[in-house]
Parts: sequence; structure tokens; C-alpha cells
Amino acid sequence: MSKFYDVFVVGGGINGCGVARDAAGRGYSVGLAEMNDLGSGTSSWSTKLIHGGLRYLEHFEFRLVREALIEREVLLKMAPHIIRPMRFVLPYHNGMRPAWLLRLGLFLYDHLGGRKILPGTRVLDLASDQAGEVLRTQFTKAFEYSDCCVNDARLVVLNAMDARDKGAEIFTRTKLISARKSADAWTLQLQATESGAMREVSARLIVNAGGPWVDEILRSAAGANKAINVRLVQGSHIVIRRKFDHPKAYFFQNSDERIFFAIPYEQDYTLIGTTDRDFEGDPSKATIAEDEISYLCEGASQYFKAPVTRDDIVWTFSGVRPLYDDGASKAQEATRDYVLRTDGDNSARIINVFGGKITTYRRLAEALLGKIEDAIGARGAPWTRNSALPGGEFDVGEFEDLLAKVGARYPFLDATNCERLVRAYGLKCHEFLGAAKSHEDLGEHFGHGLTGSEVRYLMSEEWAWTSADVLWRRSKLGIRFSQEQTDRLETYMHEYKQLQNLAAE
Ligand code: FAD
Repeated sequence: MSKFYDVFVVGGGINGCGVARDAAGRGYSVGLAEMNDLGSGTSSWSTKLIHGGLRYLEHFEFRLVREALIEREVLLKMAPHIIRPMRFVLPYHNGMRPAWLLRLGLFLYDHLGGRKILPGTRVLDLASDQAGEVLRTQFTKAFEYSDCCVNDARLVVLNAMDARDKGAEIFTRTKLISARKSADAWTLQLQATESGAMREVSARLIVNAGGPWVDEILRSAAGANKAINVRLVQGSHIVIRRKFDHPKAYFFQNSDERIFFAIPYEQDYTLIGTTDRDFEGDPSKATIAEDEISYLCEGASQYFKAPVTRDDIVWTFSGVRPLYDDGASKAQEATRDYVLRTDGDNSARIINVFGGKITTYRRLAEALLGKIEDAIGARGAPWTRNSALPGGEFDVGEFEDLLAKVGARYPFLDATNCERLVRAYGLKCHEFLGAAKSHEDLGEHFGHGLTGSEVRYLMSEEWAWTSADVLWRRSKLGIRFSQEQTDRLETYMHEYKQLQNLAAE
């Protein structure tokens, strides 16, 4: 007999994992299938901001902005290791938005969301402030405001881990092939993407959190009509060597009325993005286009004294936003808010997620749980608001303390690597550092601080399966790794899998 779940979630991005966690914590039996690696869809290609979205005020999206502003501090408290406060410098640009409009927007931004931790807006004199040193001299004044930045791919994995800890079953590299309604439930056919093996499960209710694939799941898997509900909008980023030496980010306006960011990234780099262009094709194959590179280089060069050129670029990435199609004419104007739609009758329902931001995933999950309750009855009360994600069971202000303690307990870790580990794993770093007294105790070394102990932990606890999972989603060490180091890691992971298979036989 096939396994029966109350709720089966399709899609292991931030929304699917957030829903699975919330539902499992309320006592529903939950399964989740992700056809690739967790977070490998849109959720690891974002600008990595937990933000209210200052720009959305121009589109009068007050509901979304208010909810997102409140979520900044809720999420910061939930995961103070992978989320951190950041100050954003918005230079006043003569000829673009007038100063009074910026001031008004920032006033609303400061007051709509009931801020308690994050400091408010102030005016900067760029002639004397460090933030002005790298900017062209024409920029003399700026506004500085708060938002947060997040390790997006790890936010997904931590939600999946917590869901699993609360009883959910997570199947990665497992694709939903079809879903068929029977008397009072769904029967789902799942396929393991590597072996091709099929598995059948049943569920009272399906949550379609397929991101850019949400319509495809509705059409091919659930056999629903051919409606197009999402507008796919590509956004790309360039990563260059560190452009400035302070921890603040920049919020720049462009002459096309768009805005873009330049953000400190992975200690040695600056992340610049993003763009907005309608997308067609396979979302997993989105790559930066030549004109996007020019757009970002030229845009940033209007602000930085030293121009940003193609030669500065060390990495680029692109993601596809699954925006709810509200009929907006320009891609940049399509709503960033989420829409939840229930299809099917009382006997078997499918709840579809359209749009949304990483910032609002927890609220989206709460709203979706309301629909699950309507369909199959309530179990537990909302619980995630004051919860901690794995490794984040400490107070926001205690990060430096934790870093110092880990550094003191493992003095052989260099400062850069120690910070990388505490940022990524928080209190969980002890699970693989354990009683180690030297580097040798952590097993093989792959470079840039990555050791056998960490890799084995990622494989056994965090569903890492390939070197790309480790280097591009559980960490961003891929930017620094050579091909030879990557190959060595891949071989190691392959051998470890074989050993585990032998042990299981
Ligand atoms: P996804 O992350 O795409 O997850 C869907 C998953 O479903 C995928 O992993 C896919 O593999 C899986 N799937 C699909 N079909 C199947 C199937 N048949 N079987 C099994 N699995 C399947 N938001 C912010 O809050 N802050 C930002 O700074 C920000 N910046 C952004 C910048 C860019 C360029 C982009 C593109 C988006 C940005 N966003 C940001 C928005 C945010 O990234 C997305 O809204 C969010 O990641 C969407 O998550 P999701 O879970 O809905 O989709």
C-alpha cells in the first residue's frame, strides 16, 4: 500500500519548505518532493535581501511592504546566523527621484513595519562618510536605511531540516510525474530523477509550490486546464571582486526608473543586481544575457569612481521570478505579492502558490495553512512566529559572542573560516566540529576550509548529493574552488555514497 499523507508538497524551494515546516509543526503528516536539490530553483538565485521593498511603495503595494517589513525582524530572530542586518546607502541623484520623495518613502518604510531592532533612516554627508569614498564626487548626499540580507539557499535547507525534525518526509531528486484524483484523495506518481525508480504515494491535499514550474505542474501533473497564471521574469546578477571596504550596501537608481543594489558578498566580493526581463524556456537554464551584463556594468559605473567592467566579473547568476500575472505591461511593474489559489473539489484539493518573496515565505505558509485547515480540518495553532530555525537558537545580538566562543574552542580554525562556519551553521557547527583539536581531526581538506567532516554532515543531515550542492547551495565556496578541487570533492562524495550503500546492505 502506498504511504498516505495529509499534505503532499511539490517543490523544495523556500515556499514549499516553509509550508512543509509549518504543516508538520501543526501535526499534519507531510511529504515533500523536490525534483532537483533543495533551493535549486529560484530560491538560491535571489538578491538575498530580507526587505520591505522600498521600490514597491511606488506601486502602492502597501500590504506587501508592511508584511515584509514586519517579517524582517521576525526572520532575523528566527535565524540570526544566516540573516543579518545591513545598512543601505541610497545616494541622492540629481535628475532622478526628488529628495522629498525619497524622504517620504523612507519615512513610510521606517514606520509601516513596527521596527524594534533595526535602526531607522539617517542622512549621510558623502564628502565625509566612508561610504562616499568610492563614489563619484557628484554624489554629495545620501539616505541610509536598514534591511537585512540572507543566505537564501540555506534558509531553504534549514526549513526542510526543521520540517523533517517535526516528522515531514523530504524526498530530494524526486519529481512529481502525475497526480490523479481518486474517491477522497490524490494518488501521486513520483520518480527518482537519477535511478528512474517510481514511487506511489497518496495524499488528501497537494500543495503546488513549483515556483516557475507551477503552471507546468498544474497542466502536466494534475491534468488541469492550460491557463497561464505566472509571468516568468528573469533577474541576473554579476559578482565582482570587493569594490569597497565597509559593510554597507548601496541602493542605486537608474535612468530607466529601475533600481539595483551593490552588496558586500562572501567576504571578498560585491554582488550587483538585478535586472527584469520577461523569460521563456526552461527556468533551470536561465543565464545572464550580454545586454544584462552591459546594463549592470554601466549602471554601477555611473556611481562608482572606478568603473565596473566585464573584466571585473568573477561570477554571474540568473533566476526566474514566478510572478503572479496581474497584466502589468512592464516586467518590473508586475506585482511581487503572492496569490494562493485552491483548485479541485472537497474530496481532493490542490493549493497553488503564485508569486511571493523569500521575505514573506513564512506569512505565505501561514496563509496557506489556513486553506489546509479549511480543507481537511485544523490541527495545531500557528507556531512559527517565535520559533528558531536549526542552529539559530541564540539572540540576534549574540552572534559575535558565539563567533568568539567557537574561535576559542577550535583555535586551529582561521578567522575567515570560523566566521563562514558560524554564519552558515550557527550552533549546529558543533555537530561536525565535535571534539576536534586540530585540522587533521576534521578529515580530508578540499580547500578554503572545507573538510571531510563538514561534507559528511552535509550529506547525512542536509541532503547534499553532488559537489554543486555543497559548493553552490550549502555554501558559496564554488566561487573560490578550482576545477581540480571540485573534482576531488566529487570523487570523495561518490566514494562516501558507496560506503553508505555498502553499510546499508
Ligand atoms: P522555487 O525556489 O523555484 O522552488 C520551486 C521548486 O519546485 C524548484 O526547486 C523546482 O525544482 C521544484 N519543482 C518544479 N517542478 C517539480 C516537480 N514536478 N516535482 C518536484 N519538484 C518540482 N525575494 C526576496 O525576498 N528578496 C530578494 O532579494 C529577492 N531577490 C530576487 C532576485 C531575483 C533575480 C529573483 C529571480 C527572485 C528574487 N526574489 C527575492 C524572489 C524569490 O527568490 C522567489 O519569490 C522565491 O525564491 C520563490 O520560491 P519558490 O519556492 O516559490 O520557488
